[in-house]
Amino acid sequence: MNYYILLGPPGAGKGTQAGLIVEKYGYLHISTGDLLRNEIAKGTELGKAASEIINRGDLVSDEIVIGMIRNRIESGKGAKGFLFDGFPRTIAQAEALDRMLADFGGEVSAAISINLDDRMIFERIRHRAMIEDRKDDTDPVTIGHRISNYHEKTEPLISYYRRQGKLRDIQGDDSIDNVFKSISAIIQ
Ligand code: ADP
Repeated sequence: MNYYILLGPPGAGKGTQAGLIVEKYGYLHISTGDLLRNEIAKGTELGKAASEIINRGDLVSDEIVIGMIRNRIESGKGAKGFLFDGFPRTIAQAEALDRMLADFGGEVSAAISINLDDRMIFERIRHRAMIEDRKDDTDPVTIGHRISNYHEKTEPLISYYRRQGKLRDIQGDDSIDNVFKSISAIIQ
């Protein structure tokens, strides 16, 4: 079974690329951001707790996110493959994912890291704010907070997957088409 991870800062284009990958390879797209926004839209208890955290630009607790992922993998059994987008975001999440996949008799196929510098991240998010209605994209303080959280909590995953020999690096400062070509070459 294929289990691919899209790593990268907010605004790197993970969601856009995920859409293209799913279309071409038929994988199941698991975006923790989308799952959380879905809970918020439904007004569930989890959604209420998450919305405050997300709007501040903080990370939702590992426990909540890991539980959501487990359910999604279980309900998606039979898919051709899985594509994780926005997960894992902390070392604890990455370790939990490794354990979960081992339980299912699998392992991460590759972690595809889309690189983008902080200035470009800001520009991309501000551009997205004009297209999509996301509160966490409009406030510069929130955006700054997300970027520093990325460096502090998520960037260590690059070394984590490099040590496992699973890291694949991609330059995100390129056209959607070119980024997708690089990703396809990895998945192929
Ligand atoms: P972006 O890639 O632009 O940061 P996402 O849609 O992936 O957007 O995530 C939006 C927000 O949802 C994050 O800022 C965070 O608060 C929360 N979130 C998403 N995925 C996770 C995760 N794996 N762990 C903790 N919080 C998460």
